[in-house]
Amino acid sequence: MKTYDVIVVGGSAAGLTAAQTVRRHYPPKNILVIRKEDRVLIPCGIPYIFGSLEGPHEDLIPDMVYEKMNIGLHISQVESIDRKNKVVKTESEEFAYDKLILGTGSYPAMPPIPGHDKKGVYAVLKDVQYLADIQEKLKTVKNVVVIGGGFIGIEISDEIKKSGVENVSVVEIEKHCLSQSYDEEFCIEMEEKLQSRGINIFTGSKVVSIDGEKQVESVTLADGKTIDADMVILGIGAVANADLAKNAGLRIGLTGGIVVDRAMRTSDPDIFACGDCAEKVSFFGGKSSALRLASIATLEARVAGANVFGITRETPGTIGVWGTAVGSLALGTAGLTEKMAKDHGYNVISAVNESVNRHPGKLAGAAKIKIKLVFEVNSGVLLGGQVRGDASAGETMNAISACVQNRMTAEQIAMFQSGTHPLITASPIAYGIVNAAEAAIGKMMKAKEQV
Ligand SMILES: Cc1cc2nc3c(=O)[nH]c(=O)nc-3n(C[C@H](O)[C@H](O)[C@H](O)COP(=O)(O)OP(=O)(O)OC[C@H]3O[C@@H](n4cnc5c(N)ncnc54)[C@H](O)[C@@H]3O)c2cc1C
Repeated sequence: MKTYDVIVVGGSAAGLTAAQTVRRHYPPKNILVIRKEDRVLIPCGIPYIFGSLEGPHEDLIPDMVYEKMNIGLHISQVESIDRKNKVVKTESEEFAYDKLILGTGSYPAMPPIPGHDKKGVYAVLKDVQYLADIQEKLKTVKNVVVIGGGFIGIEISDEIKKSGVENVSVVEIEKHCLSQSYDEEFCIEMEEKLQSRGINIFTGSKVVSIDGEKQVESVTLADGKTIDADMVILGIGAVANADLAKNAGLRIGLTGGIVVDRAMRTSDPDIFACGDCAEKVSFFGGKSSALRLASIATLEARVAGANVFGITRETPGTIGVWGTAVGSLALGTAGLTEKMAKDHGYNVISAVNESVNRHPGKLAGAAKIKIKLVFEVNSGVLLGGQVRGDASAGETMNAISACVQNRMTAEQIAMFQSGTHPLITASPIAYGIVNAAEAAIGKMMKAKEQV
């Protein structure tokens, strides 16, 4: 039996990043990644398989990193972990480990809707052949219904529409699409954008059944309305793939993930877990968090990989930073929206700034940028921010995340030393994050005067 210093199970965002981190921090160690699929999809790129890309083969994580970083790769499914003897068992072989990192990810949540098992109903599996089959089937359908108006649902709908399908509808149970991610005003802008691109939006609508003989023909909503459907796509979230860990007797948490501490250690000190399979706690208040994102997976993997032979890093908890884009409209969030902050019990003040990301605004490529920052009133600490704009919104979202993670106050953000240039940023006079912070300071001063 071959023995490795570190074995990583899973070859996607978490597993590959964990293996790379082990290599960087412990150069002499021998490392093996075991993953079940031949080629691994870039998970966040999946929606674009259906419209912008030619197919799943254009959405793959390159494998050359294994050779480049001297990391072994074995393709097989791990079936069990023998913790006593520190051995993992695949279908055909066994491998001994000193330290084990689990990055077994997640699978799509299946709603208990009658008819979800009919032909033509698909979840978004991270599987090359499965997605290639959907792509092929799309060429033959006229009506597609996407259940779930979160970022996966809306991105997939837009791409399917782009591929030429005549009728694409999104059904969302909440009052607005994206309402788990953005405040209402941003959700409304995105809904209008989707509608302008020919997508039908049904919000505040619950699908009560998926209908048809063997093949799906329609979906029925709680108000009795039916929508024709030759294909249904389920985009309602992800569930931790923690069975391997559970069967090995590791502790499982409230949201179904593998319980880990801030160093990403499981209940077995020689086994670490990271990514979608691991239980998460929120940066805000420390409660369990059901967020599952590639950005969180890679952060956790950098913690787990660095810690395997001695604890050097800890995760501060999940801030939740994510973006989405449809056409020229991009939205980003870092931390809590105003609604989430209030739901958490914070006493908040929010401030909005609208500016242009070039100066003067007549320059080519200029786009309007709206930034909303949410602060806790008494401390002035930033709890979160949202941005609406063009593609530049992505890095603005990340700058806001840096402020949130460092628990910066409005005063500190107002003193932020930014660099500006006419062709690549907003004017220093109208710099969005700084001016939103200044506006919040004004509001906080007023609020204090009234006490
Ligand atoms: C359509 C879509 C779009 C998304 N867009 C974004 C986005 O824009 N931004 C963002 O941050 N997140 C996004 N996400 C979420 C992101 O994809 C996940 O958070 C990320 O994939 C988690 O990575 P992971 O490595 O933990 O798990 P996974 O990607 O699920 O990978 C798990 C790995 O473990 C392997 N594995 C599992 N069990 C075994 C076993 N027993 N033996 C061997 N191998 C095993 C799998 O084969 C796979 O290689 C998106 C998700 C989807 C589905």
